[in-house]
Amino acid sequence: AKEAGGGVYATYDPAMHDALTQRLSLAGDLRRALERDELVLHYQPTVDLATGEIKGFEALVRWEHPTRGMVPPLDFIGIAESTGLIVPLGRWVLAEACRQAVAWGRPLTMAVNVSVRQFEAGDLAATVAEVLAETGMPAGRLCLEMTESVLLTDTDENLSRIVGLKALGVMLAMDDFGTGYSSLAYLRRFPMDVLKIDRSFVDRLGEGDAEDETLVRTIVRLGHRFGMRTVAEGIENEAQMSALRGMGCDFGQGYFLSRPLPARQAGALLEAGVPA
Ligand code: C2E
Ligand code: CA
Ligand code: CA
Ligand code: CA
Repeated sequence: AKEAGGGVYATYDPAMHDALTQRLSLAGDLRRALERDELVLHYQPTVDLATGEIKGFEALVRWEHPTRGMVPPLDFIGIAESTGLIVPLGRWVLAEACRQAVAWGRPLTMAVNVSVRQFEAGDLAATVAEVLAETGMPAGRLCLEMTESVLLTDTDENLSRIVGLKALGVMLAMDDFGTGYSSLAYLRRFPMDVLKIDRSFVDRLGEGDAEDETLVRTIVRLGHRFGMRTVAEGIENEAQMSALRGMGCDFGQGYFLSRPLPARQAGALLEAGVPA
């Protein structure tokens, strides 16, 4: 039994120990996964809500673990961040996504998620410049998606990092907009090109609730007033899609349009189109 305020023995918790062991073993596996090509990217299309055309894709990493099967990013991105592996992993994701975009041979945009640690460790702008040169990806077609946690550390250093990335000519997206505490302040401070409306807002659309609709409509207007394109995440049905289209939201993503797909199937979807 445990007692509050106790020493080492009192705080020992076998369940926590198991969780730690699991994390450590996953961390070791992840190191090898990078070398053994166990990571793959899936691609989810971003669709122009006015025309139904595929404008580009978002690259989402998956881990094909030899014994655990497909491991979703939320189960290992945190581990990659705390071990510093996110830096080589993030570089690999960038390069692979750019290679694929160039291979498709169309003027698509490719969106890549960038985590805080990746942003703050090392010189992301230099890495991005290298990857663009290596792959021949035009800078203007790459979009880096960052959540508020990146922008939260509102230091001058982070602002200059953002400016450094912008100087390369890449696009920047504010991911999961509306989920943090002070999203609004970032609109003024950071020169972002794209605003991604978080899925939690889209979830509640299309059910005829006037307040939910007003909220999303206001976010779309706000984005436009700040010169940003708006992308709605997590569209799961027709009603949500037509509501967003009616609000003038520029782009949409979600299972209703397409799940994230392996490269080959994403390529096939490019030929076939989505049911927008
Ligand atoms: P995110 O950037 O917000 O990505 C959207 C997530 O929502 C993806 O989950 C996607 O599969 C899922 N999604 C898309 N459409 C729908 C829908 O209609 N309904 C529902 N319920 N979900 C939908 P996924 O692939 O599991 O990724 C989770 C998170 O992991 C991402 O959230 C992103 O923050 C992170 N992540 C994924 N790939 C990378 C990566 O390469 N690098 C970094 N740093 N983070 C990544
Ligand atoms: Ca994202
Ligand atoms: Ca999201
Ligand atoms: Ca998210």
